[in-house]
Amino acid sequence: MSLPPYGSATFIEPTDPSFTPAKKLKFCKVCGDRAKSYHFGGLSCDSCKAFFRRSVQSAGYKNFQCPYRRTCEITISSRKCCQFCRFQKCVAIGMEKGWVMTEEERLHVLRIRMAKRQEEEEKKIHRRQKIRRENHHADLNEIHKFLTEDDIQCIESIMNSYEVSCLTIAFSSSLCSQHCDRGRTEIIDMFFTVIKQLAHFAQQLRSFAVIPRHDQEILLRSGVMELCFLRSAYVFDE
Ligand SMILES: [Zn+2]
Ligand SMILES: [Zn+2]
Repeated sequence: MSLPPYGSATFIEPTDPSFTPAKKLKFCKVCGDRAKSYHFGGLSCDSCKAFFRRSVQSAGYKNFQCPYRRTCEITISSRKCCQFCRFQKCVAIGMEKGWVMTEEERLHVLRIRMAKRQEEEEKKIHRRQKIRRENHHADLNEIHKFLTEDDIQCIESIMNSYEVSCLTIAFSSSLCSQHCDRGRTEIIDMFFTVIKQLAHFAQQLRSFAVIPRHDQEILLRSGVMELCFLRSAYVFDE
């Protein structure tokens, strides 16, 4: 599925099973084994994830050959039989070669992540100690006392971007009224306006704008339901 330009009302496919929000069990789209989450852009099990990573890191996928007709069925029991067809299926379900890091890159990222986590932990401990010292009983209204200046700025910038998107891409005037019996066209119109707002919102985020366009599309496509839930929470809060 390719994504039309932002602002288009057609980039979500309601028939795509990955949009089912209440799904509890997930299965690898390559071999059908149990999957926990997306890896390199595709819903896959640990085995297919490791296979894809190894194949890309070693560039071994370039030499894979199918001994049959390049149409091998990939299942849990047959996934080791044909590397060629398994790799093709990985790519077909959306796994991106460009997202696989070299071992060196991976270790570098891990080191940075660990250092950051440690720094965050230290900050948290420091904040807790400070609160304890002040004998402070925190409640939700005072949540900002748990946040750093950077956290608050980040949240405010995200909220501002969202508000700008809502003002830039407004609902049509008939949708602004509060009447309850909306027709089907109105509901669809409302839904697509929300999608357009969310796509516009994502574009306002600096960290999102700097990643390649293709990756942006994949992220938006797979995160659109979560964004809708967040939006509902935000609207409810208002
Ligand atoms: Zn698998
Ligand atoms: Zn094959």
